[in-house]
Amino acid sequence: MSKRGKRTSKKSDKTAEKENNVNLCNAISNYENPTTDEYKMLFAEHRLKSFTKDWPFDADSTCNPQSLADAGFYHIPSNEAPDACRCFCCFKELDGWEPEDIPMKEHKKHSSSCAFLSLTKPVSKLTVQEYLKLEAERQKNKLSKYYHMAMQEMQNHSALIETEMMKLLK
Ligand SMILES: [Zn+2]
Repeated sequence: MSKRGKRTSKKSDKTAEKENNVNLCNAISNYENPTTDEYKMLFAEHRLKSFTKDWPFDADSTCNPQSLADAGFYHIPSNEAPDACRCFCCFKELDGWEPEDIPMKEHKKHSSSCAFLSLTKPVSKLTVQEYLKLEAERQKNKLSKYYHMAMQEMQNHSALIETEMMKLLK
């Protein structure tokens, strides 16, 4: 387990949250175009390509690009979290990785209900029916994440408006 804590627990920071929202909104709008990277992330070889040579640990580490890609993750680096990764299926984002982390184990620990984790074969080997089931789950997760982010954004705006109104009443 990471000493720095995974992305889930450190997302209270407002700047990071905002950046995260932008990332997801971009991901959602990009998804509409099937030629973009977001759509390709269903396949491990494309997830692997998302890891730049700047990934902090080498192949000797259990936490290397290949094992991250095999565990469903692709790289979404930012200034605040250069090692941030997102699962293509449940959209769980984790950062604060350490060389001895085992990506699949971390995935199960932080998002045990992810449909990708219950697959018994690679996405490229799924039948059409299995693929559609996975894709439905993925879309549901994406909408759910987007909904929660939109709600958070609305609450932030409400709090801001309330503060401004209180100032006017003084
Ligand atoms: Zn997942």
